[in-house]
Amino acid sequence: MSQVKKATRHVNQNEGLIFEKSSPGKAAWRLPPLDVPEVDTADLLGEAERADLGHMPEVSEIEIIRHFTRLSTWNYAIDLGMYPLGSCTMKYNPRINEAVSRFEGLANGHPYQPERISLGALRILKTLTDCLLEITGMQAITLQPAAGAHGELTGILLVRAFLQKQGNPRKKILIPDSAHGTNPATAAMAGYAVENLKSNSAGMVDVASLAAQMNEDVAALMLTNPNTLGVFEQEIHKIADILHGKGGLLYMDGANMNALVGKVRPGDFGVDVMHLNLHKTFSTPHGGGGPGSGPVACKNFLEPFLPVPVIVTKADGTLGFDYNRPQSIGRVRAFYGNFGMHVRALAYIMANGPDGLRQTTEDAVLNANYIRKGLEGVYDLPYKTPTMHEVVFSDRVQAKKGVRTGDLAKRLIDYGFHPYTVSFPLIVPGAMMIEPTESESKEELDLFVDAMKSIAEECEKAPDVVLEAPHSTRVSRLDEVAAARKPVLRWKP
Ligand SMILES: *Cc1c(COP(=O)(O)O)cnc(C)c1O
Repeated sequence: MSQVKKATRHVNQNEGLIFEKSSPGKAAWRLPPLDVPEVDTADLLGEAERADLGHMPEVSEIEIIRHFTRLSTWNYAIDLGMYPLGSCTMKYNPRINEAVSRFEGLANGHPYQPERISLGALRILKTLTDCLLEITGMQAITLQPAAGAHGELTGILLVRAFLQKQGNPRKKILIPDSAHGTNPATAAMAGYAVENLKSNSAGMVDVASLAAQMNEDVAALMLTNPNTLGVFEQEIHKIADILHGKGGLLYMDGANMNALVGKVRPGDFGVDVMHLNLHKTFSTPHGGGGPGSGPVACKNFLEPFLPVPVIVTKADGTLGFDYNRPQSIGRVRAFYGNFGMHVRALAYIMANGPDGLRQTTEDAVLNANYIRKGLEGVYDLPYKTPTMHEVVFSDRVQAKKGVRTGDLAKRLIDYGFHPYTVSFPLIVPGAMMIEPTESESKEELDLFVDAMKSIAEECEKAPDVVLEAPHSTRVSRLDEVAAARKPVLRWKP
């Protein structure tokens, strides 16, 4: 094949829109001749019938197959390579989870099915709650929330309901400056004012400032542990005591539980209420706006306020739902939450077992520290405190050549990796937040470290190659603001 032909073919494959392949009369299907009386579709569909289908593409079967297959190759996925997005815990989604969640009886179960023929599903929910309570050291739980942020809101509403019952919901929530943006958003949505807490030079909550800021107006502290610097809050007991001493509650954002599972339990270090991200720590898929799951676990004194319904063991020993809960904050989600996610998380927990989960935690921390050692000296490490499951570098060295964290991340794409988390946490200017998870092998981590070192060298010798990256993708630099604010989601003729 000549070079010219090759190039043309490449363009066809990459740029062709399905609408442009369309030509009148082409179809991807053919039916045998009708052997029953013909029915007027208007009789069947009534008002729903549409005379004009608009500009639907008319294409053959192979064209439509190629179209979607091609689209799927434009995406990056955990099944293609490492996804070092810090704070996101983009671990491998084991296929056993998928197989189990597709079991006919589970996948086809209907939420309106009577309890007496849903005992298997109830048993799954109950077993998952038991496992999560054991892992967190908490006492009661709801599986309803559909994401971490949704769990935060549910948890803070529990705090509000509890304090309200005492006579005063209080006014403020304290949030460290290293927190995820969803924390202040949650506090505001729950009707609280947000007060910022400064971190100390070790990247931890400054206990003295906390003590100074704590008073009877503070409803709770929302704390991520390990925090978004990947640093374990070593004074967590003192922090809990300061809050409890003035009648406040300790909320833990459990998004970083991948660093703790099987080692320590938030319930044992003073946490009153927390959420888990099943789509992070417990390997269920996330991204793309698909279903997630953000269970909220709490201590017994918050249990009466949990969303309805809760699972109970009835007098005859069978499982059922209890809807009669007068103090409940109400429902936060239709039915019982995202059941498919619960099945996947339980499959993951049971496939690993207690020792496997502990090993997972250790491997996740080991991998983050392997990367830290590999890149120390090449990239600036603003906090020297020991790293748990993720490590935060900064672009301070490369910025001298005009290369910023976003440029480095885009160059990483050319090396076959998904970018790390850019510019978060906000307390590190030019942050490069890297979380490998336990999924990656030493070989993969070595490739990643080599890629990052090679990019650092490029910054010294030929910064333009980094500043103009990515070079290997269909489109290079986009106007990110316009893409977010004015997305083009429809093809128009
Ligand atoms: C991911 C994350 C959240 C939000 O969880 P979602 O499931 O994305 O809503 C909150 N806090 C931290 C620290 C996180 O990493």
